[in-house]
Amino acid sequence: MGIAVSPQIHPQVAEFIDKPRKMLINGRWVNAASGKIFPTYNPATGEVLAQVAEGDREDIDQAVKAARNAFDSGPWRRMTASERGRLIWKLADLLEQHTEEFGYIESLDNGKPLNIAKAADVPLAVDLFRYMAGWATKIEGNTIPLSVPYTPGAKYLAYTLREPVGVVGQIIPWNFPLLMAAWKLGPALATGCTVVLKPAEQTPLSALRLGELIMEAGFPEGVVNVVPGYGETAGAALAAHPDVDKVAFTGSTEVGKLIVHAAAGNLKKVSLELGGKSPNVVFKDADLETAIPGSASAIFFNHGQCCCAGSRLYVEKSVYDQVVEGVAEAARKIKIGSGLDPETHMGPLVSEEQMNRVCGYLESGFSEGAKALVGGHKGGDRGYFVEPTVLVNTKENMKVVQEEIFGPVVVAMPFTDPEEIVPRANNSDYGLAAAVWTRDIGKAHRMAEQLRAGTVWINCYNIFDAALPFGGYKQSGWGREMGHDVLNLYTQTKAVCTRIA
Ligand code: ADP
Repeated sequence: MGIAVSPQIHPQVAEFIDKPRKMLINGRWVNAASGKIFPTYNPATGEVLAQVAEGDREDIDQAVKAARNAFDSGPWRRMTASERGRLIWKLADLLEQHTEEFGYIESLDNGKPLNIAKAADVPLAVDLFRYMAGWATKIEGNTIPLSVPYTPGAKYLAYTLREPVGVVGQIIPWNFPLLMAAWKLGPALATGCTVVLKPAEQTPLSALRLGELIMEAGFPEGVVNVVPGYGETAGAALAAHPDVDKVAFTGSTEVGKLIVHAAAGNLKKVSLELGGKSPNVVFKDADLETAIPGSASAIFFNHGQCCCAGSRLYVEKSVYDQVVEGVAEAARKIKIGSGLDPETHMGPLVSEEQMNRVCGYLESGFSEGAKALVGGHKGGDRGYFVEPTVLVNTKENMKVVQEEIFGPVVVAMPFTDPEEIVPRANNSDYGLAAAVWTRDIGKAHRMAEQLRAGTVWINCYNIFDAALPFGGYKQSGWGREMGHDVLNLYTQTKAVCTRIA
């Protein structure tokens, strides 16, 4: 496995990362109140990529003030829904025009292949903004017939309004930095909220560049504020802030629980999109020509750094060897390298910490008796690479089967009786996604009903669409993002009741 690091960088990106990036507060680009900066790293080399202003409590406080003013008294609240929609659409157009540039930023900051960032991350973000732009004019209440028993003869006109929830704190992870910013910002802006966005400390660059496009599109100052910084400082301050009406978080289940505690102070609304350990079930009657590559991409897409990665592979016994060997063969063909190299299929993990975490899980698996059919090690002599790995000889109670690894590691296990597979698939604290591969449509839909997961894919995996709600059962989260479901997370209902006779 050779790891080549391609030197050429998009010129605008080279310029963007050349000087320390500031934070966006109230429409202006400012340094941190403390004056501090922090580095982000190129995970393909381990070298410093850029310096970024390090937001902390005081910066969060300023950003929340700006968002509060913009919500309470700025032009944003006086705009029509159509004007809001047009601004979001304009942002989508600008983002689309800068696809190449954002592809580079994501690849350099996160490690993912440039081609994938350009083909998936950026277009999905563009689509999400366009989809949400359309919703801005379609957020409606109801009229409600009343039958009040204690005012006989009286008549009422009663209706509901769907109002924006207010100032929203949004805390996002590093695995899809731009796309997660879009998932969060799109519905907040469509519903008329104002935002303080805190990108992950590992990958703040695309959110900062997006902030520039937000201002270029013409959003009023203070509507979107972007404060990069660390989770324990800036993130915690945002989650606990008494003037934030709602916090929306995507990240680990462990931090999700901290967010819930922090939000309790002012009982702000909370939505959470958390971890997963998603079962991917292949039956012997599946079309194995699609199930095998589909199962490989279920785990190896984005280097396994997907909360919905198909990380538990269950295969019916009579086709187990064929499927698992097929997934292992696909893993052997994956070319690891710098995301900028067009030959690369899989880049590095996002950080040294993440690489060490994944390698720690591999060691734990081996010490409990698992074997690697392929992979099983750190890759390369620099950068944060881990080999795509298929673990066999795994048992339900092993740590590698129970816990989210968040890396390119799948655990494979056979099953004999189709009846046994539902409880095994559901045997997890998580419930984000699941997949079933079979030609039997009755079985597929019975499984879809029985699997306790927010998304069930049948004969496909990792299919995302702005119109399709996404979120978790059990400890995988609260609420649904995307689709029209997400509008519920950013609005609250007001009942208005008028006596008319
Ligand atoms: P990971 O462990 O995969 O890095 P995290 O859940 O720690 O994922 O991070 C997701 C986001 O949550 C990041 O933006 C991070 O800065 C933020 N974060 C981490 N810890 C906290 C915290 N205590 N309070 C608020 N946000 C946090």
